[in-house]
Amino acid sequence: MFKKVLIANRGEIAVRIIRSCIELGIKTVAIHSTADNEAMHVKMADESICIGGAKSLESYLNIPAIITAAELTGAEAIHPGYGFLSENYKFVRILEEYNITFIGPTSKHIEIMGDKVSARKVISKTGIPLVPGSDGPISNIKELKLFSEEIGFPLIIKASAGGGGKGMKVVYEKEKLAFNLTKAEAEANFGNDQVYVEKFLKNPKHIEFQIFSDNYQNVIHLGERDCSIQRRHQKLIEEAPAFKINEEEKNKVLKIIIKAIRAIKYRGAGTIEMLYEDNKFYFIEMNTRLQVEHPVTEMITGVDIVAEQIKAASGIKLKIEQSDIKFKGHSIECRINAEDPNNFNPSPGKINIYHPPGGNGVRVDACVYNNYNVVPYYDSLIGKLIVHASTRAEAIEKMKRALNEFVIDGINTTIDLHKRIISSTPFNDYSFSINWLEDFLKK
Ligand code: ADP
Repeated sequence: MFKKVLIANRGEIAVRIIRSCIELGIKTVAIHSTADNEAMHVKMADESICIGGAKSLESYLNIPAIITAAELTGAEAIHPGYGFLSENYKFVRILEEYNITFIGPTSKHIEIMGDKVSARKVISKTGIPLVPGSDGPISNIKELKLFSEEIGFPLIIKASAGGGGKGMKVVYEKEKLAFNLTKAEAEANFGNDQVYVEKFLKNPKHIEFQIFSDNYQNVIHLGERDCSIQRRHQKLIEEAPAFKINEEEKNKVLKIIIKAIRAIKYRGAGTIEMLYEDNKFYFIEMNTRLQVEHPVTEMITGVDIVAEQIKAASGIKLKIEQSDIKFKGHSIECRINAEDPNNFNPSPGKINIYHPPGGNGVRVDACVYNNYNVVPYYDSLIGKLIVHASTRAEAIEKMKRALNEFVIDGINTTIDLHKRIISSTPFNDYSFSINWLEDFLKK
């Protein structure tokens, strides 16, 4: 097992990772920017190093500075969290050359899955069903027009290297194809302007499967999550398990996924994101990292996914077998963002009073405290409120209770919005698709 791990991240996820390291008896190194001197992950780690300026490019994305910090402190491994460098295959390749263990898959797996066109190619060979779409990139408007005749409208043009909901354009009619192709390409802006096309599903749910493998191809799944409550393709509330989905189809897809993960010799934690419509699942992408919403899975399985990632990366064989996983109860997560509830603009500033909820079945993964100053330079996620109860209805009641207890005074947050969503009939009935929240917000 590693003696020292560097966490190449900040915010709630850095805190989350440090907690598992402490429980595993591993020393931790926090890196931080000049803006994050007072950040919670810095206070919690055994050692910390300021590696650059407030801008992410100068610090949390500064590869040479991060590697130097690992070498100076003697950290043997780096946990990337999510976001920042977690899916940057070039970073991972450098670590492989420097003999620093990356807590995650190989650079090759990240490279293949990070590019949506190459991911579709690999996944289609494994038998996992895909959203109908182009086999490869679309290089001009003529090709796009021909293809649109094949799959019909609406369709969605996606940047192959896109992520975080960026670089996607939905097109409803032929006349708008050229305009949207140009827009998607321009928005791609990830150093790779390749785009491809998919059928746009009108009212699907977003269902994703958590898989895990050690370095010896012992593969398990930890069930699914429903992440359909989204705004601008960004998740806001997640839950596990999904509710009222076709169990037969789910088990069929899971079998294929497990086989596929073994076939591609994947290692570590990964998520197969799918859309679910009319009882059928369609692959959209694979995330080769820890997900923001991993706690809901931890709550219903009892598995510490971060601890398993660390153990697997250090070469320890997975001790959990599929038959050991017993899914218990229902878990819901609300993302607490420092945002203005009216326009979703970031709402940085000083937190005067911070009082998190507690009690039976309540977990708060956060990175703030009384008098902490939320800085404006990074993602607005400041914490996650997670509940666990025997049934979905009980989990909803628990979430209402916990949200009412939550006090964050001084800045705007998404807490009140969550109260509205959780109390709404469509949320309670589970009659929502990925489009529901946007409509609800207009009311
Ligand atoms: P990103 O990598 O930017 O997160 P994804 O491909 O994972 O992009 O898609 C993000 C979200 O966009 C999905 O959860 C879903 O809401 C929507 N989406 C993506 N592809 C489609 C599609 N073919 N039809 C309908 N909605 C889609």
